[in-house]
Amino acid sequence: MREHLWQQRNLKGKLAAIRFTANKKAKPPHGIRGSGWGPSTNRIFETGPMVMLSISTSIQEQADWLIRENPDYLLTHPTNALALARHFEKTGETLPGLRQVRALGETINPELHAICRGVWGVSLADMYSAQEVGYIALQCPDHLHYHIQSESVLVEVLDKENQPCAPGETGRVVVTPLHNFAMPLLRYELGDYAEMGGACPCGRGLPVLTKILGRVRNMVTLPSGEQHWPDVAHRHYRKIAPIKQMQIVQHTPETIEVRLVVETSLTPEQEGRLILAIRDSLKFPFQVSFTYAEHIPRSKGGKFEEFVSEVAQNAQVAL
Ligand SMILES: [Zn+2]
Repeated sequence: MREHLWQQRNLKGKLAAIRFTANKKAKPPHGIRGSGWGPSTNRIFETGPMVMLSISTSIQEQADWLIRENPDYLLTHPTNALALARHFEKTGETLPGLRQVRALGETINPELHAICRGVWGVSLADMYSAQEVGYIALQCPDHLHYHIQSESVLVEVLDKENQPCAPGETGRVVVTPLHNFAMPLLRYELGDYAEMGGACPCGRGLPVLTKILGRVRNMVTLPSGEQHWPDVAHRHYRKIAPIKQMQIVQHTPETIEVRLVVETSLTPEQEGRLILAIRDSLKFPFQVSFTYAEHIPRSKGGKFEEFVSEVAQNAQVAL
């Protein structure tokens, strides 16, 4: 509710959600329809309709459905929003009623804010939550960073010596939910990393996280043991080749598999340039192999990881 109020949403508007759901009826062409936005909102305000489609629906079918529904708000995973925005950019179709995209469940690729603005003329609002604790931080309505929801959860960002990180430093996210009486968790390590921020000029006194960086398995591990979060934003690669979907998997300290879904087959020259760009992003001359597919599936729960390392889990965390 606080997020809706911060973002000044029109609660009478139509909310379209494209997310993971066990409901088998959330399929094209119609999806499922609800009479309100959800139990917590409906108890306090009269809300507009909610329509929902499963995240496993193809981008073409999602786009057709969105055009028919013409929602005020779209709630979905960031990688799905990016694929949809690219689709609308290509077809030139529009969503005239759309006011905002709401993101959940994955880390935000910085280009997503720009493409939502460019293609649909709307802002993107992100939130940071976890199944074990619920809402952890909400994007500030005036900035791209996040405010910790301190009334319901104590969030610590700790360095490798277990000391609190100063603004600008990155560390492990450790949480203590304050209202979970059935299953108390004390200093529970989520497995995520985040960057601490300083006080926000908006005047909200809640502590700030500037970046949420995902999990250890999303870090690239160099043969030296050094680790970092790779910048694998699509904008770098789409300038080189007609890539629809891409996932990079690190199998060993020196080898990388690049899984690709492409509009047209790549030339050896394009593959060569991609290898150079990927090595540049990952900051190491990895051996790169390409695998082509019709579609790269999401993991259980509907998430999509642009970079996954099978090496990182076992390596010493360098932070
Ligand atoms: Zn703020």
